[in-house]
Amino acid sequence: MKKQEILKKMEGYALTEFGKTLEECTSKEKYIALSKAVMEEIVPTWINSKQKFEGKKQAYYLSAEFLMGRALTNNLINSKLKSEVEDLLNEINVDYNVIEEAEEDAGLGNGGLGRLAACFLDSGATLDLPLTGYGLRYEFGIFKQSFKDGFQDEDGDNWLQHGDPWSIRKESDSVTVSFADGDVLAVPYDTPIIGYGQNTINTLRLWKSEALNNFDFEEFNNQNYHQSVKEKNDAETISKCLYPNDSNDEGKKLRLKQQYFFVSASLQDLVRKHKEKYSSFDNFSALHSIQLNDTHPAVAIPELMRILTKNEGISWNKAWDIVVKSFAYTNHTLLAEALEQWPVHLYQSLLPTIYEIIVKIDAQLKEELKEKGIKEEELYEYEIISGDCIKMAWLSIYGTSSTNGVAELHTNLLIESELTKWYNLFPKRFNNKTNGITQRRWLLQSNPELAGYITKLLGSDKWITDLTELKKLEKFADDKEALEDFVNIKQTKKDQLADYIEEHEGIKIDRNSIFDIQIKRLHEYKRQLLKAFYILDLYYRLKEQPGFDIHPRTFIFGAKAAPGYFRAKGIIKYINEIAKLINNDKDINGKIKVVFVENYRVSYAEKLFPAADVSEQISTAGKEASGTGNMKFMLNGAPTIGTYDGANVEIVAEAGEENNFIFGLRVEDIEKIKDSYDPKEECEKVKGLKRVVDTLVDGTFTDGDTGMFAELYDSIFKGASWHRPDQYFLMKDFDSYRQAQQEVDEAYKDKVAWARKCWMNMSNAGKFSSDRTIQQYADEIWKIEKA
Ligand SMILES: *Cc1c(COP(=O)(O)O)cnc(C)c1O
Repeated sequence: MKKQEILKKMEGYALTEFGKTLEECTSKEKYIALSKAVMEEIVPTWINSKQKFEGKKQAYYLSAEFLMGRALTNNLINSKLKSEVEDLLNEINVDYNVIEEAEEDAGLGNGGLGRLAACFLDSGATLDLPLTGYGLRYEFGIFKQSFKDGFQDEDGDNWLQHGDPWSIRKESDSVTVSFADGDVLAVPYDTPIIGYGQNTINTLRLWKSEALNNFDFEEFNNQNYHQSVKEKNDAETISKCLYPNDSNDEGKKLRLKQQYFFVSASLQDLVRKHKEKYSSFDNFSALHSIQLNDTHPAVAIPELMRILTKNEGISWNKAWDIVVKSFAYTNHTLLAEALEQWPVHLYQSLLPTIYEIIVKIDAQLKEELKEKGIKEEELYEYEIISGDCIKMAWLSIYGTSSTNGVAELHTNLLIESELTKWYNLFPKRFNNKTNGITQRRWLLQSNPELAGYITKLLGSDKWITDLTELKKLEKFADDKEALEDFVNIKQTKKDQLADYIEEHEGIKIDRNSIFDIQIKRLHEYKRQLLKAFYILDLYYRLKEQPGFDIHPRTFIFGAKAAPGYFRAKGIIKYINEIAKLINNDKDINGKIKVVFVENYRVSYAEKLFPAADVSEQISTAGKEASGTGNMKFMLNGAPTIGTYDGANVEIVAEAGEENNFIFGLRVEDIEKIKDSYDPKEECEKVKGLKRVVDTLVDGTFTDGDTGMFAELYDSIFKGASWHRPDQYFLMKDFDSYRQAQQEVDEAYKDKVAWARKCWMNMSNAGKFSSDRTIQQYADEIWKIEKA
């Protein structure tokens, strides 16, 4: 009986870790005791997995972010210990839910890019593929958000305060990373990535920065106490904190240190292990495929050149061949402000050797271009070092054998516009890998009610590892009983969310209203402001037209704004002001409500996606590379109201345009109008629009004299030094968004037809499993095989 074993282990940890009986332990301590007991169970399989992949080609995912969320429930599910543990806790009168909630999220990422990395690891292990994650062990993850008078407030995320039972410090694998201003120690912490069914357990290896010498006794003796621990403090700063910017390049020295730190440590790790087995590097690229998650780890290209040429004595040309064959690059954005460029002086001063190598790579590129017949006067367009900037995207395309976009539309746009000239140089390098999500976390774990029902209907749980099985549910799309059960499950999830929101946000919401949810990072291009304008217009119309009737609706937002992103913070304040106005208006009588949940994160997401009736995916066409939130909603049976952008395009192609609500300008429309677009004219033309936009400046709401609202207003009508007026076409898309929302309201009236739309979305979500994505990476880029 596993149960008794686990209990014994838990009791043991209670004694040795906390000096208490298990009964005396707090919930947090019980969570840690349980997690450590689970670790003890799975470590033998983990060691086994490492051995079975030895000598085979393996893939490595280098990412500055891994947004893992909580581990306990996921690990219990994937190792098939969940029901056993639940029984056990029941027997000792412990509420599993309370233990689950005692775990802090591992929030080592900002949003989609970091969560993608986490989903990929889950899929890699489940597919029995040798895939290792490499990143940074930030002591503080993404900040904790709260609202003070409607303004965002940030607090440090001290997720390691009570320790992390899921990671093991591997001190003996430490390496030294050298900067011009000194050396630091990189200490790896390994976390097991348990594949579903526990055949394979892979590793996420995160590096912590430490000083080579923690303490200077002489300084201490001379009473220089600060100086005595200075080296320790300086070194530990590197992995201290995640940069809270999403899709925005900051170009800060410490950020560059973070990038080089984890990249150098990871490559040294791979090279050392290679040398333990082989006497040459001739087979290095045949055994390693290294994926760069965006350009954040692009310094890996010159770093591996450095290691091979300077440490291993390999010729430049041979080393370059190994480098290009080993690396692949994923592009995540078309936004100019997200394309990384590093000031030359930072590289020169911090990483002089690496800088010299980049100079050489740049020179080699120019030679190659000339050979290919590119004219002298066009060379500057390809320069990696351009003026006083280093262009990391150019380095990443030139220094790898694969460049991929993350949705069909995104890849096409890359090829047709931003990267055309590179595509013409290396057409075979370009490919698409549409993003995906793991159904283990985003359905099985977060919506066990629906998961159980799907298994029952299909008579099999094969969908857990093959999501295309859901297609077989289509035949129930007109089955009244199935739809009724489905609607009841949705209601259960809505009730659970309503309880949670009442407890945590202090707002009572109408459980029978339409739960209309927009959850994602706060960004102008994602257009939370468009939804805000729509809600306010709806409010005014409800006030002035007594006959105007709609189905009650709850508008739910969840989003963190980067702390330095003034406009994004203004949008949060604005929505909170709108919420205050509407939620307190007796005339509205609860017909519409607005809730901005605090501290949106993975564990909150797991409660929100399953409870949604409507998925808001309203980015300006061409701006959202893929999106993955859109897929989580779809999988949980919510139709999308969205633009023709990112993976929305593929979602409606799978689920049917008639089961979703597509509106607004398309990429080609924007191309046509952008030069003559006049937002002022548009605003005045559309009924009701001016009234709502003017609330930014007419005193309806207060921004506490911060100037936030006026600045938002100006961003629409005046533009700014770096952009034209209304660069995200809010005015132009408002009316068509309002119409689409009207259609949602109409469609919801027919309960059966609505349930059918939801059903068709869920049934056609198979394509969006990250298992599919990872199998494509494995087959087409990495060329790795399962054990
Ligand atoms: C899925 C997810 C995201 C990405 O959402 P998008 O809508 O694709 O931007 C961001 N944050 C969290 C916590 C997520 O789970």
